[in-house]
Amino acid sequence: MAHRHSRPKFESWGRYPSLSATVVPLHWPSDFPLPPAKEASPLEDQRSKTATSAPPRMLPVGMGRSYGDVCLIADGTLLNTRGLDRFQSFDEESGILRCEAGVTLDEILRFCIPRGWFLPVTPGTRYVTVGGAIANDVHGKNHQVAGTFGRYVRSLELARSDGSRFVCSRDRNMEWFRATVAGMGLTGLIVSAEIQLRAIVSPLVKSEVSQFHGIDQFLELSLARQSSEYSIGWMDSTATGRKFARGVFMTAAHSQEPAKLTTHKSRSCSVPFDLPGLALNRASVGAFNALYFHSHRTRQKPRLLNYDSFFYPMDRIRHWNRLYGKRGFVQFHCVLPRVADQLAPLQLLKAISAARLTSFLAVIKDFGDAISPGMMSFPMPGISLALDFPIRGEETFDLMDRLARITAEHGGRVYPAKDTRMTPTQFQNFYPQWQQFAPYVDPAFSSNFWERVTARG
Ligand SMILES: Cc1cc2nc3c(=O)[nH]c(=O)nc-3n(C[C@H](O)[C@H](O)[C@H](O)COP(=O)(O)OP(=O)(O)OC[C@H]3O[C@@H](n4cnc5c(N)ncnc54)[C@H](O)[C@@H]3O)c2cc1C
Repeated sequence: MAHRHSRPKFESWGRYPSLSATVVPLHWPSDFPLPPAKEASPLEDQRSKTATSAPPRMLPVGMGRSYGDVCLIADGTLLNTRGLDRFQSFDEESGILRCEAGVTLDEILRFCIPRGWFLPVTPGTRYVTVGGAIANDVHGKNHQVAGTFGRYVRSLELARSDGSRFVCSRDRNMEWFRATVAGMGLTGLIVSAEIQLRAIVSPLVKSEVSQFHGIDQFLELSLARQSSEYSIGWMDSTATGRKFARGVFMTAAHSQEPAKLTTHKSRSCSVPFDLPGLALNRASVGAFNALYFHSHRTRQKPRLLNYDSFFYPMDRIRHWNRLYGKRGFVQFHCVLPRVADQLAPLQLLKAISAARLTSFLAVIKDFGDAISPGMMSFPMPGISLALDFPIRGEETFDLMDRLARITAEHGGRVYPAKDTRMTPTQFQNFYPQWQQFAPYVDPAFSSNFWERVTARG
């Protein structure tokens, strides 16, 4: 049975926007659909005639690791899925795992690594649920060879607010499968899923690093190391002049030398409170970036790293989002088609430099052309850029808008999982297939993101 409804604060990772909703924890698949709201007294009924006639608005949520409002619904009901945390079956021979949707990638790693299996695709944090990974069809450092998480979902069970419940896969209810992968939680509640894991013989990865100077050099390195299983670039967004767009390119592959299959340790430290908003200023970030850049001199020999250090460096610090201060932060994450002159990423970086807003974390990645199964999946072949900005007021939002316009002019698109600002016109141009997707949206489900990007006039 679902517990009593409460109104604790549920925040997305960027802690913006701050909205209040009723949170209903789900513990069993049968907790959904929710029981009808209890009868109102005649007096209450009179007062809330208009309110009761409004259709219910609800949204499933996982760990709230999306940055913006794709996991928020103002004055609606959030279905907290973390209680749906059971492993249902695992085939040690084939690596096929079936679990409920509230199981986190952290829990899967702890379970599967000792058995010689690893996640097929993982985002930069292991604190996301299976439901959240499917609903945003997340990608990882192996996108160029593996594509998105949804490609490894063999099937999923979907529950709708009308009480219907069915399994979808590439060959059963295929259109529902395509709509639910990257469906942003709007097509119904994902109750459970079956996922294909990938085999490993060691918890270590062999990693190489190289410095790069400019986007062209980043792309040359990306091309030369295309067959590396994992690759990612970090960029110094504060560098100007001759140092402009310098960064560090990292590649890795699972070690083929058999080793004891141990899992990661628990987190070591935490940011206990909100830092003053100005702690991450241009000078402090610039100094940190220079240090980081120079500490990663191009190495001839690969290094062996534990998987946790390579995939999840940020997870070591609990609540690192508090570093940005009380007002929170936004992330701009786009993908731009690959073209010869690389004008688009340069224009984005120049706009950021001109705004003199500092991005602490700037990540660049070359996406591959594996087709995602999700109708609304974000990745496409091209260069993906993700940059965090502390919220300083209108100047931050103006910059977000400028970056989205540049992305649109160059035929790119912005990632809903990170967004707070996309306009209806931009969304509908980035994702023209949205009209094909809309009929699959559960009539009782919505999100602030969805209401914003489909608002009329
Ligand atoms: C440090 C960090 C690094 C990240 N790196 C990456 C990256 O490399 N690549 C990438 O793609 N993303 C990345 N992300 C974003 C993150 O992976 C996604 O936002 C992910 O979807 C969050 O999962 P969650 O469980 O927190 O879901 P939430 O954020 O709570 O929800 C995300 C969406 O999933 C829906 N949803 C959740 N559970 C269900 C369910 N059971 N049924 C139906 N819908 C559901 C919600 O309605 C919402 O639309 C990163 C985030 C952080 C904080």
